[in-house]
Amino acid sequence: MYNLKVVVIGAGIGGLTTGISLRQAGFEVEIYDRVKELRPAGAGISLWSNGVKVLNCLGLGEKMAQIGGQMDRMQYLTKTGELLNDIDLQPLVEEVGQRPYPVARTDLQQMLLDAYPGEVNLNHKCIGVEEDAQGVTAIFENGHRAIGDLLVAADGIHSILRRYVLNEEVQPKYGTYVNWNGLVPASEDLAPKNSWAIYVGDHKRVSMMPVARDRFYFFFDVPLPKGTPVNPDYRADLAEHFQGWAQPVQLLIERLEPSQTNRVEIHDVGPINKMVRGRVALLGDSAHATCPDLGQGGCQAMEDGLVLTQYLLTTNLGVEYALQRYEAERKERTGAVVQKARRRAEMIHGVDPDITQKWYRQLAQEDPTDVTSAISKVILAGPLH
Ligand code: FAD
Repeated sequence: MYNLKVVVIGAGIGGLTTGISLRQAGFEVEIYDRVKELRPAGAGISLWSNGVKVLNCLGLGEKMAQIGGQMDRMQYLTKTGELLNDIDLQPLVEEVGQRPYPVARTDLQQMLLDAYPGEVNLNHKCIGVEEDAQGVTAIFENGHRAIGDLLVAADGIHSILRRYVLNEEVQPKYGTYVNWNGLVPASEDLAPKNSWAIYVGDHKRVSMMPVARDRFYFFFDVPLPKGTPVNPDYRADLAEHFQGWAQPVQLLIERLEPSQTNRVEIHDVGPINKMVRGRVALLGDSAHATCPDLGQGGCQAMEDGLVLTQYLLTTNLGVEYALQRYEAERKERTGAVVQKARRRAEMIHGVDPDITQKWYRQLAQEDPTDVTSAISKVILAGPLH
């Protein structure tokens, strides 16, 4: 199709990637976000090879390599620091054809903003949508109205447009744990600089992975009831949760900057049975917020953007037809990832303690290539093989 105008709500990973992809395909795009200033939520993200391949398709592969960390291995350790498994990621890279990149979210956001050939319209909170046979109109709190041939609702886990598409309220589900994340200077007394180090024990997890400019993106996971009162002294809180854990974990707690550390209650959405209504398409977390335990939520948003663009480009049967094809392909893929990530979140965080103990034992005995094959399977089930 030619001469389409697309209104995108949300300038997160999903909205920006989609905006870039649509503009490269020759479509007119307007992106709107409610915030006055774009700041990524969270410190870092691991982009697995399927996400990186989307960026390759958009001509951003080289830039991604500059901002991504060199992650050659994954090391699982017990809470007291004994090595459970040391996994070479090269077989994975060879199987899928692209290395994964952990990256600081500010770097990723800046790269995407630089690549988007236009301005994001900030301070525009979308409050509703109207459709007729000719097009769709986004309505904003400030009185602005944006008209397009289609609307992409990339407005995140608390999407207000999800209700319009599904015709019912679907609330995010609590993923049973709290995650603290941030960045620290990389140093060998914390972890090898080319490795993703993961400490596991007591249904908790501590992770450090390298990102550009000699930093580690770190996170801590602790299973806690939803709504557990926040101790604003994150360092003291983490010192208590991880008392007795290995020396690098203690050093990490000492070195993290509490004011730059994020605390998130993990939630997911779905699987939902619709992603599209008429000329409106949900994309990214609005449709399928995913527990971060597979590192796939952002990667799925990127895949969504590319697949949507391709269906719009390759049909002459109209916008609604293209969106139906998008929905049919993406609903299945993303629903499976949401479910798999939730099962993994539950396994890691002791929802059934026997299953978590079994996982700890399995980690010690597992052939490293079984681990890389399992990751490859998730990656290769996407649109880019
Ligand atoms: P968002 O990034 O939430 O963007 C939505 C945008 O919409 C925001 O800018 C918001 O301001 C705007 N908006 C919302 N409502 C409105 C409105 N009404 N009007 C206008 N604008 C609006 N994924 C990975 O791939 N790998 C990982 O390693 C990984 N780790 C994660 C770790 C944690 C702790 C968490 C919480 C998530 C992680 N994810 C990871 C998931 C990933 O962060 C998300 O899937 C991704 O950021 C979703 O992008 P999005 O664009 O769909 O939504």
